[in-house]
Amino acid sequence: MDCGQVAELVTDYLEDALKAEERDWFDGHVNACAGCGRLLDRLRAMIGLLGHLRAADIPADVMSALCQAFAGVDPRDWSKGLI
Ligand SMILES: [Zn+2]
Repeated sequence: MDCGQVAELVTDYLEDALKAEERDWFDGHVNACAGCGRLLDRLRAMIGLLGHLRAADIPADVMSALCQAFAGVDPRDWSKGLI
């Protein structure tokens, strides 16, 4: 497994939906890989900051801009520290 698989698994990891062996691999990788560790830290921080928002709290123009911004993101860039 590699950094690309971290990007694929990170949502399930954060939702505690990985199998035990996947979680063990994920934990080992993010502890050894600075880029993936940084990705996980940033996602946890973002969830902490935004977790209390409801969709109705986000202005339509901001929601539209966010959707457009994330539509162009390549998850493989996360592990390279480009995001
Ligand atoms: Zn990595």
